[in-house]
Amino acid sequence: MIKAKGIAAFSATTPLAPYSFERRDPKEHDVVIDIKFCGICHSDIHTVRSEWGNPLYPIVPGHEIAGVVRSIGSKVTKYKVGDSVGVGCFVDSCRSCQHCKDDLEQYCLQGFSGTYDSVEQDKKTQTQGGYSNVIVVDENYVLRIPASLQLDKAAPLLCAGITLYSPLMHWKAGPGKKVGIMGLGGLGHMGVKIARALGAEVTVFSHSDKKKDDALKMGAHHFVATQDRSVFKKLAGSFDLLINTISADINMADYFNLLKLDATLVVVGIPDKPLSIHPFPLVMKRRNYSGSLIGSIKETQEMLDFCAQHNITPDIELVTPSQVNEAYERVTKSDVRYRFVIDMAKV
Ligand SMILES: [Zn+2]
Ligand SMILES: [Zn+2]
Repeated sequence: MIKAKGIAAFSATTPLAPYSFERRDPKEHDVVIDIKFCGICHSDIHTVRSEWGNPLYPIVPGHEIAGVVRSIGSKVTKYKVGDSVGVGCFVDSCRSCQHCKDDLEQYCLQGFSGTYDSVEQDKKTQTQGGYSNVIVVDENYVLRIPASLQLDKAAPLLCAGITLYSPLMHWKAGPGKKVGIMGLGGLGHMGVKIARALGAEVTVFSHSDKKKDDALKMGAHHFVATQDRSVFKKLAGSFDLLINTISADINMADYFNLLKLDATLVVVGIPDKPLSIHPFPLVMKRRNYSGSLIGSIKETQEMLDFCAQHNITPDIELVTPSQVNEAYERVTKSDVRYRFVIDMAKV
């Protein structure tokens, strides 16, 4: 076994604390990765605080992992020692269902193996994530980080980046399309940068004017502060695609009314509680209300290559492992511009 050290949550109510544990010895197709950086995703916080169910403690969170290959199993062909690599939200899937065969492993019919708070495909070995110094992952679930991307800035692409890239591609954001990004946080700011690079006309919806300068600097064409309720009337029926990254309870009807005929609002930010939705505005213009979950391995690689090509990286704030609890408090108050990344060399 390989000795690993990291930080873990031991209960829903106690701070994360140092934790020593073990990773498996690499099997034939495994890659051993020295983790250099790991992003802090809001899902990490929801999970360790038992807000999305009852997790199995201790949990080492983290699914925005960037590092360097330490060693490889005897049959690994895709990676070699020293390569810059990433690991995202899952580390395996059944590989035999139709969705896995169609490069849609994120929708694996048997359930993928999440990077943490999950089990391997043996359905019993607990997985542990990236707030640690080393991880062992099958080469087919490892991503290549292009040389032009710095590892600390590449890390958040593995969840926040792909969470926005996938729906923008699926619903064909591009020239001539009006795309609205609801909320400018870790997810939203990636949506602005990617949608702009795809050639869409990008509007950011945010509660107040506070983030206006940031949004425009990131590439948004327009910024709308929604505390002025008249904007919903003014912009009614004008959007081809809206992506909701806001996990708070908002009046969805306001936003449905912004869509054109047949246009779609996609949910990627998940609130703690169910939303109540009046379907009237959907019915009136045959509008769609949809959801999207991260992306496949193939699409995540495509996203990394796209970001490298277009020089797209998240705005990050580096923290040490000992600052993670403080960072969690700030994330819950939306006090981060725009993603925390943990320097795992300091664990
Ligand atoms: Zn995430
Ligand atoms: Zn599958």
